[in-house]
Amino acid sequence: MEHATQEEMNDLRALNLIDGRWQEAASGRHGTRQDPADGSTLGQHAASDRRDADAAIAAARRAFEAPAWAQNPRLRQMVMLRWADRLEARAEALAQLLTRENGKVLAQSRAEIGGAISEIRYYAGLTRYMPGHVFEVEPGAFATLIKEPAGVAGIIVPWNAPAVLLIRSLTPALAAGCTAVVKPAPQTALITAALIAELHAVENLPAGVINLVSEDGHEVAARLVESPDVDVISFTGSNATGQRIMAAAAPTMKKLSLELGGKSACLVFEDADVDAVAPALAAAATIISGQQCTAARRVLVHARHYEAMKKALANALRTLRVGPGGAEGMQIGPMIDLATARAVGERIGQAMEAADEVLLRGGAGTGPLATGAYLTPTLIAHRDTNAFFVQEEIFGPLVVIERFEEEAEAVARANHSEYGLSASVWTHDGARAMRVARALRNGTVWINDHNKLFAEAETGGYRRSGLGRLHGYDALIDFQEIKHIYQQVGTV
Ligand code: NAD
Repeated sequence: MEHATQEEMNDLRALNLIDGRWQEAASGRHGTRQDPADGSTLGQHAASDRRDADAAIAAARRAFEAPAWAQNPRLRQMVMLRWADRLEARAEALAQLLTRENGKVLAQSRAEIGGAISEIRYYAGLTRYMPGHVFEVEPGAFATLIKEPAGVAGIIVPWNAPAVLLIRSLTPALAAGCTAVVKPAPQTALITAALIAELHAVENLPAGVINLVSEDGHEVAARLVESPDVDVISFTGSNATGQRIMAAAAPTMKKLSLELGGKSACLVFEDADVDAVAPALAAAATIISGQQCTAARRVLVHARHYEAMKKALANALRTLRVGPGGAEGMQIGPMIDLATARAVGERIGQAMEAADEVLLRGGAGTGPLATGAYLTPTLIAHRDTNAFFVQEEIFGPLVVIERFEEEAEAVARANHSEYGLSASVWTHDGARAMRVARALRNGTVWINDHNKLFAEAETGGYRRSGLGRLHGYDALIDFQEIKHIYQQVGTV
């Protein structure tokens, strides 16, 4: 297998990192990535297969079995802090790369890179605080409970927020003492490799602790899921893939952390200020061109404001500036690629045909935007919550507005969903805000805000939105085992 030097690995060429060395895929093949803003060729990634996956898993296993990493929290903290410093020094270049590869507007890329760096520092701190507990169950009989790293973590990353979603899984894994094999989405292999390169460059990082294997299809990801040498899969992606992973992981009974799709409802009550809420919801719906799991998708409005909100929201969505993510003042960049823009556009077209009312008719980019993967926002109104576009996660800039008369009806409508990732409540009545937030079957509920996500606050899904929690202290448990050690020492 050909080994590449550090210099050969650059931001537009994502090689594999296996056992501390950058290398081509065993097949020698590459995939290419097009800039979604204009279709031009951007860079290349290794097009790996099962052989590369097995080599990476073996390297991660060896690194895990050496105590130098798994039992050395101070080393882990130091490595993570230095990694964060290195990323900070390159933050602007990384944000630019993220925008070119993913399409999102630069302000969102800068916030994502900044959030990722902050999250590394958060978990670096927690590395040195993983206490267990000890108690005397009977005279002289001690139960000691310690947290141990779960082993090798396979981390499968989606393309929509590839920096923060990589870090959200990888840093609690490393903090806990796991070693890892990262499998990026093919659409965003370059930014993933650029982030991992800065970790690899940190002195004192033992070889094999972090491995990266890119691919075009799903062979590598599927191998991570089925391998008996991988102890945890941390997957962020669609519900359909999450179900396949859960089934494929069953024979090896590995631990699963699944962060899946959503269909966020935003409940706007009669005391809310429509003129202030509408632009906030328009931004919440179109973040990453509507390609965010928590994006606002359903806007449930009290009858008193229903007509006003239809107008205000259509207007707020219509006036958002759509264009290349790197251009000044843009608010919506292109979708991840042309094929996705076409498929999502078709589904939105079917929704428009079936909806009670079309308030804003979106579609593909025209004029100078015709060669990019653009999709302008659509707003429809509908009464029946059984409609496919009220239930299905349509991963793009589509918003459905619904009307309600009473609080209980609003909650029942919002809870009529297979998903349970996030929701928001818009009201100035504090008691109502808390009451409704408690009644909503979602992992996150925002009050008078939307899409606020932090390193410190656990996120995850109820129902089909997933298993486990990431961010926050409780994310560590997804990458840990709890061991009970019993000892009868007697009494004096
Ligand atoms: P996806 O499920 O198509 O792919 C995600 C990753 O899984 C990619 O790396 C892909 O290569 C890999 N993959 C695909 N098929 C696989 C298989 N059979 N076995 C193993 N791995 C496989 O998702 P996507 O389109 O990249 O991402 C968008 C989805 O992610 C949306 O549903 C969104 O809601 C969800 N998401 C959820 C969260 C969250 O925090 N809950 C965050 C971001 C995105």
